[in-house]
Amino acid sequence: MADFVNRFSVTGQKAFVTGASKGIGAEACRVLADAGADIVAVARDAGGLAEIKADVEAKGRRCLVIQADLGSVEEGRRAAQEALDAWGTMDILVNNAGVGCGEPILEASMESFDRVIAINLRAPLLLTQLLAPGMIAQRRGKIINISSQAAMIGLLGHATYSASKGGLNAMTKVMVAELSPHNIQVNTICPTVIMTPLGQAYWGDPARYDPFVAKVPLGRVGQPIEVADLILFLASPASDLITGDDIMIDGGYTAV
Ligand code: NAP
Repeated sequence: MADFVNRFSVTGQKAFVTGASKGIGAEACRVLADAGADIVAVARDAGGLAEIKADVEAKGRRCLVIQADLGSVEEGRRAAQEALDAWGTMDILVNNAGVGCGEPILEASMESFDRVIAINLRAPLLLTQLLAPGMIAQRRGKIINISSQAAMIGLLGHATYSASKGGLNAMTKVMVAELSPHNIQVNTICPTVIMTPLGQAYWGDPARYDPFVAKVPLGRVGQPIEVADLILFLASPASDLITGDDIMIDGGYTAV
């Protein structure tokens, strides 16, 4: 195999991917499996998880499905423990599970704030606490936190969501400070609108979509495969010197 292929490969590694039942997480499972990883696929929807398991196994890799609601601390703990009991140390953690919330500041409810923060921000903390010790022991690991352009700019109607993603970016810096001595790289990916079920639910309305896309320098939004390819890069040895970055994948939206 050519050298560059090895540098972009995750052969034989174990990847714990949250939000694996659809959208970006499902595509990440397929791409990481294409590049040689075994997948722990975590989400609530049994049907979506069964599809991913079939896709991953069709590529000749193993797939362990764990159904869990990551809005619950107990469920998050159980999911991590099931993975560790079944397969031992995880090499890659993709904190991708997330929920949107289209509430402006003056209307944001305290209930949705707590739920969005629990899933988008607390779960990545919890799973990192539970899965990083194995990475520390083996002196190698990759943590990829899926954030959003909403962490970087004031997107109308994204009060709670932006808070969760801004918190994730800030927490990632602390992960870098504390985990770098153990050769663990931690980065965020900050996508623009990606046409997944979540993206479609909010941006499918032309009244929102048309003025937004008119401001994207590349003139389009993204597809899940484009984020999944970046996840693979950050999981692979090719990115070993990259840590602590918030990597925009936004068609230039936040650059101009
Ligand atoms: P999606 O299509 O709605 O998929 C979200 C995934 O998260 C699903 O697999 C869902 O699984 C899982 N999830 C949601 N709540 C969960 C919970 N309580 N417990 C466990 N799993 C849960 O969304 P997506 O667009 O792929 O989003 C993936 C990530 O990208 C999110 O963090 C999102 O904030 C971020 N992002 C998306 C966009 C976009 O425009 N699409 C832009 C920027 C950032 P179940 O429903 O089966 O539990």
